[in-house]
Amino acid sequence: MNIPFVNFSPMHDEISKEIEDKFKTIYKNNWFILGKEVESFEDEFSDYCGVKHCIGCGNGLDSLHLMLRAAGIGKGDEVIVPSNTYIATVLAISYVGAKPVLVEPNINTYNINPDLIEDSITSRTKAIMVVHLYGQVAQMDKIMKVAEKYNLMVFEDCAQAHGAKFKGKVVGTFGKASGYSFYPGKNLGALGDAGAVLTNDDDVCEKVRALRNYGSNKKYYNEYQGYNSRLDELQAGFLSVKLNYLDKWNEDRKKTANIYSKGMVNNEIEKVQVIEGSNPIWHIYPIRCKNRNGLQQYLKENGVNTLIHYPVPIHLQKAYENLGIKKGALPISEKIANEVLSLPIWYGMKPNEIEYVIDKVNKWNRKA
Ligand SMILES: *Cc1c(COP(=O)(O)O)cnc(C)c1O
Repeated sequence: MNIPFVNFSPMHDEISKEIEDKFKTIYKNNWFILGKEVESFEDEFSDYCGVKHCIGCGNGLDSLHLMLRAAGIGKGDEVIVPSNTYIATVLAISYVGAKPVLVEPNINTYNINPDLIEDSITSRTKAIMVVHLYGQVAQMDKIMKVAEKYNLMVFEDCAQAHGAKFKGKVVGTFGKASGYSFYPGKNLGALGDAGAVLTNDDDVCEKVRALRNYGSNKKYYNEYQGYNSRLDELQAGFLSVKLNYLDKWNEDRKKTANIYSKGMVNNEIEKVQVIEGSNPIWHIYPIRCKNRNGLQQYLKENGVNTLIHYPVPIHLQKAYENLGIKKGALPISEKIANEVLSLPIWYGMKPNEIEYVIDKVNKWNRKA
């Protein structure tokens, strides 16, 4: 058996006719940037999440960058951010000239440890950037409490958490604004690059709308030195088709994750701890193993393809040498980088494929 890490076919086979029709409609309309399709998708996605505004952007990184700039985060500000995240979260903070202050995750949930946030707050701290990593939900009740106590803005990076919920509320709706990525491999993925900002704040909305389009809300009148980061009509149209299936696709991943979690009994493997009251969407299925590289090699030899999210923590990336954080300073993030492994999970995985992965993981040789 050969099990790819990800397989789009079951998802895309199901909607190929709808996608083709959508393409034909847009092609005939001859309108490709900021039109009806973008407006519809923005309405649909904000409805789905239960938030006032959605503003389509060119990609996830831009959505994070533009929302921070629109909210007035900038030079001299500090933004608290989990040290275990994809680099885009931190880059967005750097882009606006603010300083990312890395806070360690909980080793079992992989998300920011809310009990460590308070220690990192200074007189310059302006905001907390939450990440719902791996599709697992961050501890929003505790995080909002700290933010309120210190009067900090809360932003959410929801690039891996489309449709995930905390106590019945969809992520990306808790704070000032949130950023989404629709990179093809995300749970809600376009057929190319795409992203969006969600917010309940009218001013932030207005400003992101302008910033994504050269800083202009009226053609050829520029209020800000903005960017070109628009969601295009084709991607918006495809996303509208896919949004109708998101819950079904997430539900299927959840079923697979539950079978994995029940079936994997190898005591060399640590499974993720799902926080109480949360409904994660299993963007990836992470496990931890002391001999991770050995396990990955063994699985590969047995036809099970895995990836590592992520092999190098932010503070040890060359790009972030300037933070001056030495190796050993963020031991939990470093341990995760050394031990984490993502197992195959995608919509439409067959029962025998799921069982095969479980069987191989369970047979992983303890002494290897
Ligand atoms: C994918 C991702 C992003 C960036 O999204 P792009 O669309 O690739 O720019 C940001 N944050 C996290 C956590 C991501 O996984």
